[in-house]
Amino acid sequence: MDRSFELYERMGLSREVCAYGERTLERIAGRFADIDKIAEYNQAKVLYAMQKNKVSAGCFAATTGYGYDDVGRDCLERVYADVFHTEAALVRPQITCGTHALTVALSANLLPGDELLSPVGLPYDTLQEVIGIRPSPCSLAEYGVTYRQVDLLPGGAFDYEGIQAAINEKTKLITIQRSKGYATRPTFSVSQIGELIAFCKSVKPDVIVMVDNCYGEFVEMIEPSDVGADMVVGSLIKNPGGGLAPIGGYICGTRHCVDRCAYRLSAPGLGQEVGANLGLMPALYQGFFLSPTVVAGAEKGAIFAANLYEPLGFKCFPNASESRHDIIQAVELGSQEAMVAFCKGIQAAAPVDAYVDPIPGDMPGYDAQVIMAAGAFVQGSTMELSADGPIRAPYAVYFQGGLTWAHAKLGILMSLQKMVDAGLVSL
Ligand SMILES: *Cc1c(COP(=O)(O)O)cnc(C)c1O
Repeated sequence: MDRSFELYERMGLSREVCAYGERTLERIAGRFADIDKIAEYNQAKVLYAMQKNKVSAGCFAATTGYGYDDVGRDCLERVYADVFHTEAALVRPQITCGTHALTVALSANLLPGDELLSPVGLPYDTLQEVIGIRPSPCSLAEYGVTYRQVDLLPGGAFDYEGIQAAINEKTKLITIQRSKGYATRPTFSVSQIGELIAFCKSVKPDVIVMVDNCYGEFVEMIEPSDVGADMVVGSLIKNPGGGLAPIGGYICGTRHCVDRCAYRLSAPGLGQEVGANLGLMPALYQGFFLSPTVVAGAEKGAIFAANLYEPLGFKCFPNASESRHDIIQAVELGSQEAMVAFCKGIQAAAPVDAYVDPIPGDMPGYDAQVIMAAGAFVQGSTMELSADGPIRAPYAVYFQGGLTWAHAKLGILMSLQKMVDAGLVSL
């Protein structure tokens, strides 16, 4: 710490903030040890899948054009399928982001006349247009897919009675979002998701269950596909890309569901056979390999932030002692000034664009101005240390990522320093 401190001081951190950080760390050492155990298990899981599928240098070769017989791409999909314990996987740079992956999974498995059910309340912002909750050209609603939603009970529990009543002869697919996203409900544990899936399947055995797994991968030792999900879907710009994947999304699930997704993504009849890898295989393999430890570092950062800020009087979601099921940390800062100071600190600690100051600005689709701090190698990557939030009550920043724990720690300390410098907190 002393050697680090000399440098930290030159970077603008005070001895006071650093000492407060060290005292905080002492309190949470036990939790870090638990995270390391999960990371160790998930590392072995990925490693075993790579060995079993005989990943070799040949898998890293670039392909172009149609991409027929793309050995590296096909092998990576087998690795993903083995890690998620599914029959099949679609892992492609042609899937541009998480929203796209979810859109493919939904539109491939829902036909006109079918109904989609969300038993966990309103889905993530971008999916609302996909479904047609907010009207949009090419939404599922336009294609004759209806949508039903059952909200969580006031305490955050599943409304089993409501869900039973909502499932009907048209219900074809049930979507469960694991992470809270920008909502205030808690993130679900995999075992909670498993209970919900078991209930839905007891009401309607042939219903397809899809889990939006964004931000949840490798936070626990099991994934939703281990507890009955027919499809798990996510973005490679988040957890499973390990910070190295420059683009991509994945869908792991039953052969039947994944085949349909491949036909929807490329074309009926072509499916998984086409789709050149464009030289991205090294990053996708290596990113997946690193993901368990990158996720562990990000989770440590989230826990550190909650334990740093909560004693200072700021509400944290999850709170300082709660168990974690994703890598997102929300901190209610209570004012615009505090949000700006926090984000300045995160930006000032970045490896890229550290010299710029984030300021609130207008964003399409938001009713308030939004502030964002990110100095990332991969544009917009929230696997890298980043913070953002809408400038409105309760003035909460959503903080996530960090490719290494050391960087996450520095960024969070820097956010606190900027708050102290602005006279918004005293230690
Ligand atoms: C990020 C996210 C998405 C969408 O992913 P993008 O890559 O931003 O399109 C969907 N659902 C959840 C819960 C997310 O966190």
